[in-house]
Amino acid sequence: MTRRIPPVPHYLNLVDGRWVDGERRPNTNPARPGEVVAEYARAEPADVQAAVDAAGRAQPGWASTPVGRRMEILDRIGTTILGRVEELAVLLSREEGKLLGEARAEVTRAGQTFRYYAHQLLQPQGELYPSTRERVYAEVRRRPLGVVGVITPWNYPWAIPAWKVAPALAYGNAVVLKPAELVTASAGELARIIAGSGLPPGVFNLVMGSGRTVGEELLTSARIDGITFTGGTATGRHVAQQCIAHGNKRFQLEMGGKNPLVVLDDADLSIAVRCALDGSFFSTGQRCTASSRLIVQAGVHDRFVDALTKATQALRVGDPLDEHSRLGPVASADQLTQNLEYVEIGRREGATVVAGGQHTADEGQFMRPTLFVDARNDMRLAREEIFGPVSCVIRVDGFDEAVGVANDTPFGLSSGIITTSLSAAERFKSLSRSGIVTVNLSTAGTELHLPFGGSGASNHGPREQGVYARDFYTVPVTCYTGW
Ligand code: NAD
Repeated sequence: MTRRIPPVPHYLNLVDGRWVDGERRPNTNPARPGEVVAEYARAEPADVQAAVDAAGRAQPGWASTPVGRRMEILDRIGTTILGRVEELAVLLSREEGKLLGEARAEVTRAGQTFRYYAHQLLQPQGELYPSTRERVYAEVRRRPLGVVGVITPWNYPWAIPAWKVAPALAYGNAVVLKPAELVTASAGELARIIAGSGLPPGVFNLVMGSGRTVGEELLTSARIDGITFTGGTATGRHVAQQCIAHGNKRFQLEMGGKNPLVVLDDADLSIAVRCALDGSFFSTGQRCTASSRLIVQAGVHDRFVDALTKATQALRVGDPLDEHSRLGPVASADQLTQNLEYVEIGRREGATVVAGGQHTADEGQFMRPTLFVDARNDMRLAREEIFGPVSCVIRVDGFDEAVGVANDTPFGLSSGIITTSLSAAERFKSLSRSGIVTVNLSTAGTELHLPFGGSGASNHGPREQGVYARDFYTVPVTCYTGW
């Protein structure tokens, strides 16, 4: 396959409507580590402060901009993204390693999210209540939170910034976005699109750099009203502590997962294998909603393992731009090392590898999808988030044990069950402790108009997406009016 390598673009920080340069860093293609995809400028702490100040100055004017104008701008951002899906998906694929088809779907979702929140602005934004007093009425209005710091991970560089930035802007806030350093080209393109949308300077700002410098500067800034964070659980706990210590800021955390997929004896085997394959390995297992624990009832266990092993071995690992690939590279060299370490941990703990387990021979950060059997739920393999194409099968005797194992985890993001029994499905929906429950579907795959979030170590704070997003980005104000 011959491919033209585009020239290397440079992405700058966006502060108060101006493009700000800094120390230049390269981002490379995980499928071809020698290929520089883009360069980005690291922001200095002073740039972060300038961005926060600009956001504070711009926010009141934006909040009082007529709804029609705010809708027009958000809609324009969404429409521009949707008009450039192919080009932006190729960049995402080269930068993060996502399969081109998955990258197209993600960029499309980002565009749709901006358009969805544009139209949310025409929905009722408050509530009217009767008062217990005479000649008084009460209403609950919503005012914007103010200046919002947005901190995002590398695995969904379009979808996650979109599902945070779009509702933040729609509800009248100003934003400072700090993306993960691995995906600054995607963030840089989003910033260019937003800067060209007619949004007043300072309402949206982009600052790039490490969590330790740029991220920390946002957490400790007294002029930020709230932080919305998606990333690892350890980082999230630190974000929470800093938000409380520095101004008692509002915070919202979406973190890791160790999501169970239960397969009962009465399951349709082809659905079970399809959902396990998708949930465990697609997006190279780099999804917070990935199914990394397959909890399988004894009667179907051997047939399920046999079919899933064959399907896993048949997955073609390769260049994410090649439409025949089913699994792209691991996004970073560090993540690949960590995945392979967990394979060794699983082996030492006594689980058995029946597919994959190793790096591929190809150049690039490729790893074969890896399936363990004979796993127990108390192994590190089953308790800790690996965040790679590694899944394990845990054998159970019946429904009650399956639910017990599914819920026995510090996390609680998503869970699924494969069954033909309506009664088992309904009981699972009520007993699961996860924030998202699926029946005869993959544990991954969510829709933009529905609430997204978990429980336990997976979440803190209100849900994201859909109308539920309003709970983080606005403050309810109770007004009593006498007449
Ligand atoms: P990470 O926690 O390493 O980083 C997330 C973001 O936090 C990055 O922008 C990083 O630079 C920043 N950061 C790091 N240290 C910081 C600090 N001290 N102060 C402020 N910011 C700091 O996570 P990651 O490796 O980018 O992403 C993978 C993790 O994200 C996985 O655990 C995955 O489950 C989770 N994730 C969760 C969801 C969800 O919605 N629940 C979605 C996607 C990813």
